[in-house]
Amino acid sequence: MTEPLRLPGAVVEGMLAHARARDPEECVGLVFGREGAATRHVPLTNTAAAPRTRFFADPTELLRALIDADARGEALLALYHSHPDGPSAPSETDLAHAHYSALTLIVTLRPEGVRAFWLGEAGLEVRLEVMS
Ligand SMILES: [Zn+2]
Repeated sequence: MTEPLRLPGAVVEGMLAHARARDPEECVGLVFGREGAATRHVPLTNTAAAPRTRFFADPTELLRALIDADARGEALLALYHSHPDGPSAPSETDLAHAHYSALTLIVTLRPEGVRAFWLGEAGLEVRLEVMS
Protein backbone atom coordinates (compact mmCIF):
# COMPACT_ATOMS: atom_id res chain seq x y z
CA MET A 1 0.00 0.00 0.00
CA THR A 2 1.81 3.08 -1.20
CA GLU A 3 -1.02 5.54 -1.71
CA PRO A 4 0.04 9.06 -0.71
CA LEU A 5 -1.24 10.31 2.63
CA ARG A 6 -3.15 13.57 2.36
CA LEU A 7 -2.52 15.85 5.32
CA PRO A 8 -4.13 19.24 5.99
CA GLY A 9 -1.51 21.92 6.63
CA ALA A 10 -3.14 22.49 10.03
CA VAL A 11 -2.41 18.88 11.03
CA VAL A 12 1.24 19.22 9.96
CA GLU A 13 1.51 22.45 11.94
CA GLY A 14 -0.19 20.82 14.92
CA MET A 15 2.30 17.95 14.99
CA LEU A 16 5.22 20.38 14.67
CA ALA A 17 3.80 22.47 17.52
CA HIS A 18 3.52 19.33 19.67
CA ALA A 19 7.12 18.38 18.87
CA ARG A 20 8.31 21.90 19.73
CA ALA A 21 6.42 21.83 23.05
CA ARG A 22 8.11 18.54 24.06
CA ASP A 23 11.57 19.38 22.70
CA PRO A 24 14.16 18.00 23.52
CA GLU A 25 12.02 14.96 24.35
CA GLU A 26 10.22 12.95 21.69
CA CYS A 27 6.49 13.55 21.32
CA VAL A 28 3.96 10.91 20.26
CA GLY A 29 0.43 11.00 18.90
CA LEU A 30 -2.09 9.67 16.42
CA VAL A 31 -3.50 10.87 13.10
CA PHE A 32 -7.08 9.97 12.20
CA GLY A 33 -9.01 10.43 9.00
CA ARG A 34 -11.05 8.89 6.25
CA GLU A 35 -10.04 7.26 2.98
CA GLY A 36 -6.40 8.24 3.11
CA ALA A 37 -7.08 11.87 4.01
CA ALA A 38 -6.17 12.95 7.52
CA THR A 39 -8.65 15.07 9.43
CA ARG A 40 -6.96 15.61 12.80
CA HIS A 41 -4.12 14.63 15.08
CA VAL A 42 -4.37 13.63 18.74
CA PRO A 43 -1.31 14.34 20.93
CA LEU A 44 -0.59 11.65 23.52
CA THR A 45 1.70 11.68 26.56
CA ASN A 46 5.10 10.06 26.09
CA THR A 47 5.56 7.87 29.16
CA ALA A 48 8.89 6.32 28.11
CA ALA A 49 11.54 6.20 30.86
CA ALA A 50 14.05 7.83 28.49
CA PRO A 51 11.83 10.22 26.51
CA ARG A 52 14.73 11.92 24.74
CA THR A 53 15.41 8.79 22.73
CA ARG A 54 12.28 6.65 23.13
CA PHE A 55 8.54 7.03 23.03
CA PHE A 56 5.73 5.04 24.59
CA ALA A 57 2.19 6.36 24.31
CA ASP A 58 0.16 6.52 27.49
CA PRO A 59 -2.07 3.41 27.13
CA THR A 60 -5.20 4.98 28.64
CA GLU A 61 -4.99 8.01 26.35
CA LEU A 62 -4.29 5.75 23.38
CA LEU A 63 -7.32 3.57 24.05
CA ARG A 64 -9.56 6.58 24.66
CA ALA A 65 -8.47 8.16 21.37
CA LEU A 66 -9.09 4.95 19.42
CA ILE A 67 -12.57 4.48 20.92
CA ASP A 68 -13.45 8.13 20.29
CA ALA A 69 -12.29 7.93 16.66
CA ASP A 70 -14.28 4.74 16.13
CA ALA A 71 -17.41 6.52 17.37
CA ARG A 72 -16.69 9.33 14.87
CA GLY A 73 -16.30 6.87 12.01
CA GLU A 74 -12.62 7.72 11.58
CA ALA A 75 -9.75 5.33 10.90
CA LEU A 76 -6.30 5.39 12.44
CA LEU A 77 -4.10 6.48 9.53
CA ALA A 78 -0.79 7.10 11.26
CA LEU A 79 1.19 7.23 14.46
CA TYR A 80 3.58 10.13 14.72
CA HIS A 81 6.55 10.77 16.94
CA SER A 82 9.41 13.20 16.86
CA HIS A 83 13.13 12.91 16.39
CA PRO A 84 13.90 16.53 17.38
CA ASP A 85 17.44 16.45 15.95
CA GLY A 86 16.75 13.80 13.33
CA PRO A 87 17.25 11.55 11.57
CA SER A 88 14.05 12.02 9.56
CA ALA A 89 13.94 8.26 8.90
CA PRO A 90 12.76 5.47 11.25
CA SER A 91 15.32 4.20 13.78
CA GLU A 92 16.18 0.54 14.31
CA THR A 93 13.98 0.69 17.42
CA ASP A 94 11.09 2.09 15.37
CA LEU A 95 11.43 -0.77 12.87
CA ALA A 96 11.53 -3.34 15.69
CA HIS A 97 8.34 -1.96 17.30
CA ALA A 98 6.08 -1.65 14.26
CA HIS A 99 2.92 -3.18 15.71
CA TYR A 100 0.20 -1.18 13.98
CA SER A 101 -1.15 -1.41 10.46
CA ALA A 102 -0.85 2.36 10.16
CA LEU A 103 1.74 4.72 8.76
CA THR A 104 4.55 6.06 10.91
CA LEU A 105 5.19 9.78 10.65
CA ILE A 106 8.56 11.12 11.80
CA VAL A 107 8.53 14.77 12.85
CA THR A 108 11.87 16.59 12.98
CA LEU A 109 12.61 20.07 14.33
CA ARG A 110 16.16 20.72 13.10
CA PRO A 111 15.31 21.10 10.29
CA GLU A 112 11.52 21.12 10.62
CA GLY A 113 9.75 18.48 8.57
CA VAL A 114 7.45 15.46 8.48
CA ARG A 115 8.02 12.22 6.55
CA ALA A 116 5.79 9.12 6.31
CA PHE A 117 6.82 5.45 6.26
CA TRP A 118 5.34 1.98 6.19
CA LEU A 119 7.53 0.24 8.75
CA GLY A 120 6.24 -3.22 7.85
CA GLU A 121 7.96 -2.93 4.48
CA ALA A 122 11.48 -2.17 5.72
CA GLY A 123 10.77 1.52 6.12
CA LEU A 124 9.23 2.19 2.73
CA GLU A 125 8.63 5.92 2.41
CA VAL A 126 5.15 7.16 1.52
CA ARG A 127 4.52 10.46 -0.22
CA LEU A 128 2.76 13.19 1.76
CA GLU A 129 0.40 15.59 0.07
CA VAL A 130 -0.05 18.64 2.28
CA MET A 131 -3.38 20.35 1.66
CA SER A 132 -4.06 23.98 2.51
ZN1 LIG B 1 11.74 6.98 16.26
